[in-house]
Amino acid sequence: MEHDFIEFSYLAASVLFILGMKGLSHPESARRGMKMAQVGMLLAIVGTLLQKQIISYEWIVVGLIIGSLIGGAIAHFVPMTALPQQTALSHAFGAFAASLVGIAEFHRHGVELTGLKMVAINFEVLLGSLTTTGSLVAAAKLQGLMPGVPLTFKGQNVFNFTLLFVALAAFIYILAVPGATVAFYVMLTIAFIFGLMLVLPIAAADMPVVMSLLNSYAGLAAAATGFAISNNVLIIAGTLNGFSGFMLSVLMCKAMNRSITNVLFGAFGSVSESVATERTGEMRELNLEDVATQLAYARQVVFVPGYGMATAQAQHVVHELSETLEKRGVTVKFAVHPVAGRMPGHMNVLLAEANVPYSQLYELEQINPDFPHTDVSVVIGANDVVNPDARDNPSSSIAGMPILEVDRSKSVVVLKRGKGKGFSGLENPLFFMENCGLLYGDAKGTLAKLVQAVQQA
Ligand code: NAP
Repeated sequence: MEHDFIEFSYLAASVLFILGMKGLSHPESARRGMKMAQVGMLLAIVGTLLQKQIISYEWIVVGLIIGSLIGGAIAHFVPMTALPQQTALSHAFGAFAASLVGIAEFHRHGVELTGLKMVAINFEVLLGSLTTTGSLVAAAKLQGLMPGVPLTFKGQNVFNFTLLFVALAAFIYILAVPGATVAFYVMLTIAFIFGLMLVLPIAAADMPVVMSLLNSYAGLAAAATGFAISNNVLIIAGTLNGFSGFMLSVLMCKAMNRSITNVLFGAFGSVSESVATERTGEMRELNLEDVATQLAYARQVVFVPGYGMATAQAQHVVHELSETLEKRGVTVKFAVHPVAGRMPGHMNVLLAEANVPYSQLYELEQINPDFPHTDVSVVIGANDVVNPDARDNPSSSIAGMPILEVDRSKSVVVLKRGKGKGFSGLENPLFFMENCGLLYGDAKGTLAKLVQAVQQA
């Protein structure tokens, strides 16, 4: 009876995870999807707590209290802009847990471990350990605790492949000689080092790709854990996580023009020296009243939000400005780049929070043909995602990354605080173009003043 209930809770949890993921594929159903996945997770935890093998509920309660306190504090205090590094830390914790389970299983069963079970434990420890250190480095880079530039050295790829080769040799040796403790720890140590080496050479625009790839690795480590301890819900949830993370990596690669083979082999290090386009013009500072008049009498205005909108928390006031313009008969659209901000869907989340209607959100492919018919494009703290060098300059390190082609609109107004560069650290020729002007200041303050000025125009 108890066993049936556990299996039923696992099945229900798995179905809820799948439905939850389906819900996450559209902003309108995302909240419902998230709730379904949460109920699924609760069911999976309840089912697991009923397992007969549990020997100490005391330790579980202690873990539950500590984990809930840390999780609650993170949810409460971590700002939206720091979510990518927080996600990296979550991957590190999840992957480390998988590794620890693998180590415990190895010692619990020793020489009895053979065949598929040993393969599963090896995968679990290998993927779990490299994801742990890789995610910690990613979190440190994103938080600015480590230099954001690629850290490379001569012979890095040879060194990395040697590490991988030794780890795989140890992997095979453990299968051939059951209970080979030294080989097991050699594999474990190398996996930790390999995780570091995988992420150290990565920087700038490649960071989101590696994040989703680490997410995928963490999921696969969890699936391997499921095989190792015969837990169905872990197998299903881990596989879902692993493959959805992989699909996201592929989509992000496409959005950033990275090749998937580079991602698969982690060979990001060879970023070539970037050469920016020669600047001829001057950056032109705009006057707030002039911009307000331009907006008030435009036929179509496209807002292009970026990371700066997130740091300024300007999403509510940009919605207010859009409503003010619409009341005057202006057509308003929002152009959302897939890697604007610092995490996938960052702009969608913020605009949804501000109740911007989904019908006003346009993806890259939909909005780009519309820019030549747009009177004013207002770039709110975006930089890399509107950098024309990605399209026009093959020597740029972001060459080939699809951009929002605001430079093709009749007029461009860029809201930023000063001469700060974007995530990639590249100069942006857009700011020097004749049809472009800059409105300096924190995006939230500038937009609030624009709302007032448009109302009076
Ligand atoms: P971005 O290139 O990082 O540029 C942000 C701009 O916002 C900066 O030039 C900055 O200039 C301005 N800014 C910052 N705070 C501001 C404020 N309070 N008010 C007004 N402006 C402000 O941003 P993006 O165009 O959104 O591009 C995203 C970049 O992040 C891409 O390179 C992408 O590859 C990378 N990335 C994306 C993800 C993802 O999954 N979405 C994850 C990691 C990395 P000032 O300093 O002069 O104000």
